[in-house]
Amino acid sequence: MFNSLSDRLTATFKNLRGKGKLSEADVDATVREIRRALLDADVAVPVVREFTASVKERALGAEVNEALNPAQQIVKIVNSQLQEILGGETRRIRMAKTGPTVIMLAGLQGAGKTTLAGKLGYWLKSQGHRPLLVASDLQRPNAVTQLQVVGERAGVPVWAPHPGTTSEFDDPTGDPVQVARDGVAQARAKLFDVVIVDTAGRLGVDQALMAQARDIRDAVDPQEVLFVIDAMIGQDAVQTAQAFNEGVDFTGVVLSKLDGDARGGAALSVASVTGKPIMFASTGEGVKDFEQFHPDRMASRILD
Ligand code: GDP
Repeated sequence: MFNSLSDRLTATFKNLRGKGKLSEADVDATVREIRRALLDADVAVPVVREFTASVKERALGAEVNEALNPAQQIVKIVNSQLQEILGGETRRIRMAKTGPTVIMLAGLQGAGKTTLAGKLGYWLKSQGHRPLLVASDLQRPNAVTQLQVVGERAGVPVWAPHPGTTSEFDDPTGDPVQVARDGVAQARAKLFDVVIVDTAGRLGVDQALMAQARDIRDAVDPQEVLFVIDAMIGQDAVQTAQAFNEGVDFTGVVLSKLDGDARGGAALSVASVTGKPIMFASTGEGVKDFEQFHPDRMASRILD
């Protein structure tokens, strides 16, 4: 992911090497190259506009560091601008002061929510927490079983409406809101300190789905609502993120499938467009293919 964006930006900076002082024309040419590279990588147009305007302003402005040559100065400005669109500082999970911390997952079907539940559970466990996964996706056939498999792989218990059934439709009482509520009650009773609630997704944004996600959110009052987005979906990422932001007012973003070879710019736009930070990145199908998202490190990785 981001390889071609990375190559393009690096090539742009190479053109500035050896220059003594940057003229306005040099800055304009560089900003134009940066704009093209961002657009070609699928970064959303308003994000590109803001990004390039800031880079230009800062490159021409007073912010000139005598210790750096012009190429280094531009790299530094682009780096900090990239960090900013990726959400600025690293954002950690907000933990509840008393009782279990509730983390709800939302996103389209196939985004990687169920897989993420296992990864997040595994990661929290490795940090000394006692997580419980809750199967509130009663929409997709086998979603409950899938979460149980994921939980087993991660060594994290799962609260499900009908443990062991192959199809959640076997359960006539399957109400995802009630399952979520019961899951949190179970966590409180059994002293689990983090509850991860998996919810249903659809192939496209759907008002019934959004209402259900809102009902679950209101029933369990989560500390975090994480919006999981497949970084491979390209331009649609921004619209989907906006719909979920309006629908469930999520608190953080998880980029999944960052191991893929998509251009990735749309995913990079999500934090900037919604004003919500990217908190985690998923980088594969395995339970350990997961990392906390650090905007500064990602910016440096792109510019490496
Ligand atoms: P959900 O419908 O949102 O719960 O999505 P799933 O967790 O079922 O994931 C959909 C598919 O994407 C599954 O085949 C996962 O194995 C795969 N997947 C999830 N996360 C990643 C990831 O970070 N990288 C890759 N390569 N595949 C992933």
